[in-house]
Amino acid sequence: MSVEKTVTVAVVGAGPRGVGFLERLAANQSLVAPESALVVHLIDPHPPGAGRIWRSAQSPLLKLNSMAADVTMYTDESSTIAGPVRPGPSLIEWAELARAGVVTVEASLEHEVATLAADSFPTRRLQSAYLDWFYLRAREALDGEVIEHAASVVRVDDVDGGQRVVLDSGLELDADIVLYALGHTGTEPEPEHKSLSETALANDLFYLPPAFTADADTSALAAGEPVIVRGMGLAAVDLVVLLTEGRGGRFVPGDDGLEYQPSGDEPHLYLGSRRGIPYHSKISSTLKAPRAEQRFFSAAIAAELERTREHLSLRRDVWPLIAAELQWGYYHELFVGHPERVRVSWSVFSGFLERYRWNSVRLHAAVVAAIPDPLDRLDLDALDRPLAGRRFADVTELQHAVRDHIRTDLDLRSLPQHSATLGLFYSLLYAMFDLGAIIDSPKWTARSRVDELGTWWTNYFSYIASGPPAHRLEELLALSRAGVVSFLGPELEVSVVNGQFEATSPSVPGVVRARALVDARLPATNIGASDNAALRSLVASGVGCVETVSDADFTGTTGRLLVRAADSRVVDASGAAHPARFAIGPFTSAPFVGAFARPRTNAVSFRENDRVARAVLEHAAEVAKRARSSTSLA
Ligand SMILES: Cc1cc2nc3c(=O)[nH]c(=O)nc-3n(C[C@H](O)[C@H](O)[C@H](O)COP(=O)(O)OP(=O)(O)OC[C@H]3O[C@@H](n4cnc5c(N)ncnc54)[C@H](O)[C@@H]3O)c2cc1C
Repeated sequence: MSVEKTVTVAVVGAGPRGVGFLERLAANQSLVAPESALVVHLIDPHPPGAGRIWRSAQSPLLKLNSMAADVTMYTDESSTIAGPVRPGPSLIEWAELARAGVVTVEASLEHEVATLAADSFPTRRLQSAYLDWFYLRAREALDGEVIEHAASVVRVDDVDGGQRVVLDSGLELDADIVLYALGHTGTEPEPEHKSLSETALANDLFYLPPAFTADADTSALAAGEPVIVRGMGLAAVDLVVLLTEGRGGRFVPGDDGLEYQPSGDEPHLYLGSRRGIPYHSKISSTLKAPRAEQRFFSAAIAAELERTREHLSLRRDVWPLIAAELQWGYYHELFVGHPERVRVSWSVFSGFLERYRWNSVRLHAAVVAAIPDPLDRLDLDALDRPLAGRRFADVTELQHAVRDHIRTDLDLRSLPQHSATLGLFYSLLYAMFDLGAIIDSPKWTARSRVDELGTWWTNYFSYIASGPPAHRLEELLALSRAGVVSFLGPELEVSVVNGQFEATSPSVPGVVRARALVDARLPATNIGASDNAALRSLVASGVGCVETVSDADFTGTTGRLLVRAADSRVVDASGAAHPARFAIGPFTSAPFVGAFARPRTNAVSFRENDRVARAVLEHAAEVAKRARSSTSLA
């Protein structure tokens, strides 16, 4: 007699990727059916769906940096997946369901739901509720049992052909399959951060190494105390919010834009970085012309490049094409959408873009001749490093220069006459998608994989296309005018002199001294030194390994967990894939572009969720078959 085997899947980490996987597991279940009962253990110390980053228990001031219309957890007609598409509401559509009374939200979110527009930047707490709702629907759709465990996994062992999952609560779970969806994890301090921490301890200073800002304890930063903040990206934006409005200050409309009314509890924040300016604002204008057809870099061009080149270097082979594509998208919108701002037609100007190299003197001359307003001319180098090479007589001049830069950036990205910046944004977005399609190629040089794809490109994309909502920059201007925030300048250097932190920039004379330093950025991905016990033990046991790359010129590591591209199975140092362990998310070697996505963009993460869910179900079918044949033999 054959007894039905229950196949058990342990999901380690139940944030957006963990529950996205669950949704795909349910969607594919009847197609890749293991014909056995299914039990899923969802293990996470934070609530399933939202997980750590999006949990509801955080400041209501913190926001998503995507607009409500640009966030979905659901597959749609654009999804090229083997499994079935199961459409569902985007965040704004879900809010509309809540407004119609179809979905209920807790009282503290009702006002936000009532006023949310497609272009609003929702609070993380609202995203939390959306993810929770998504999770409950996915759980309902699954033909099987889901058991939640509010705990952390410390390690997983291979035992008797199965997996033993050890939780920090002391519980041990037996599973057939384990999926790691751990998300962003912290790392042991790098040598520089360790040394700064030791110095801080020895001199009674405050030092915050790279951290998840929402979780960091900044209560020791006293009112009025100077704080040097190194980094001006999204972590710095969160920090500024928490230390100003979060300490009781208020933004009110004033004659000169937004005004900040301090509570008196704020420290004085000195912000600096390599660029010395914040990320470019999110864009709120709309295209006047139809979106440009891709000309220099597209999915087909990327595939052809990958097919024909022996080796691929991002900066040498691909960047010139992307740069030309950015100019193409920008100028198409300028010339077709705003012909009154230029002196020649698009058919004439596009000929220059076809003929001349993206950074050539000839193209520059054609741009100057055809476009009277310098603000309308796209200079990719200046866009990247607006303060490069500039010198300021004193800190006051620097403050004005940074404020002017932010003001101009806000105008360029919000006023209808400057919608060319949206043309550029779309070109960059699609370049990222199309580059994503060849990112797995074995032809990338080792240096390109480590330094260019993993670091430079991600940072460049975030800086141009994934900056803060415009209102955060309006707030930064108000804080600067109120004297609560000061700018330190580009190429920031921080050292410890006479028991204090000192910040300098070659662009401006003088030194800022402070007893507090914050490194405002997320910890770098380095799973070999992760502070996550489950990840550390996965590597220490030899089941998983850090992705290393090498060629004749360069040997290095991406710091990520190596997974097999076809099915996200964990791979060991010999290249062998573990049959029962899978991993998805930003800590893995698979391309990562977020857990949720804009609707109708064939999201990479949904494709990976679908692939891994099907591979898990196929393995579950084998486990069940093996169990059936062993019980029928017995
Ligand atoms: C601060 C921050 C802000 C972001 N903002 C945006 C944004 O505005 N828009 C956007 O598109 N993307 C944003 N992202 C990108 C982010 O990667 C995704 O939005 C998403 O959260 C990633 O989903 P995930 O499930 O892979 O990881 P996570 O959301 O990090 O979830 C992983 C889960 O695993 C759990 N976990 C970890 N280790 C263990 C263990 N050992 N045992 C059990 N559970 C464990 C954690 O508690 C966590 O809940 C942001 C990322 C960060 C860090």
